[in-house]
Amino acid sequence: MRLILLGPPGAGKGTQAQRLVDRYGIAQLSTGDMLRAAVAAGTEVGLRAKAVMEAGDLVSDDIVVGIIADRVEQDDCQNGFILDGFPRTLAQAEALEQMLAEKSLQLNAVIEMQVDDAALIGRITGRYTCAACGAGYHDRNLQPKVAGICDKCGGADFNRRADDNAETVALRLNAYHEQTAPLLPFYQKKGSLLAVDGMADIDEVSGQIKAVLEAG
Ligand code: ADP
Ligand code: AMP
Repeated sequence: MRLILLGPPGAGKGTQAQRLVDRYGIAQLSTGDMLRAAVAAGTEVGLRAKAVMEAGDLVSDDIVVGIIADRVEQDDCQNGFILDGFPRTLAQAEALEQMLAEKSLQLNAVIEMQVDDAALIGRITGRYTCAACGAGYHDRNLQPKVAGICDKCGGADFNRRADDNAETVALRLNAYHEQTAPLLPFYQKKGSLLAVDGMADIDEVSGQIKAVLEAG
């Protein structure tokens, strides 16, 4: 199973990708997570990406395409993968098409997560993740069962992203509408686009994704 989750920042891509990993045993490929790891490790890619990410802009196509090209070669991608946050420009989508064609692989579906802009700021500013295992939470929408303890790994340290503030979110949303939304007609024309109502609650969205994948 090879999927793309497509939607604005805060739409719920990472949340649903974690559930799809559990359901299908395929890898979650989040370019945002990989870039944050590169920034934290101080690699050359990280040094090039840091200021761009802090400004809410998109990192250059050559960097992210290179990251994904290396990543899909790894063993845990043999059964498939969920692309979370990639592609984000038409050039990235075209590079992905070429990459898959060279390996004689196909995408099963592109799932559009539809969420109103007005809901995104609250989702993003309330977001935090477990520092140990990366499980995602929200101040109001998705709290750990025991306050301060990660449900998945029992960790007690949590992180908030430097770019999850109201000013940067506005810039990231702009980047989404200008550079990423044109991917919707691109995949629609190819017949691979399936839409779910990302405004629904988290379990309901998971159910919708399961239903559209089974129907498609
Ligand atoms: P993305 O990966 O698309 O940027 P996330 O999956 O990180 O978005 O979700 C952003 C925040 O919103 C997280 O804190 C998550 O817990 C919360 N969230 C995700 N899906 C929903 C939903 N359907 N309803 C309410 N909150 C949600
Ligand atoms: P995300 O974790 O998906 O919200 O991404 C965080 C930030 O990483 C974005 O605001 C961009 O600066 C950068 N980024 C992540 N994925 C991509 C991509 N596919 N293309 C360009 N920039 C990206």
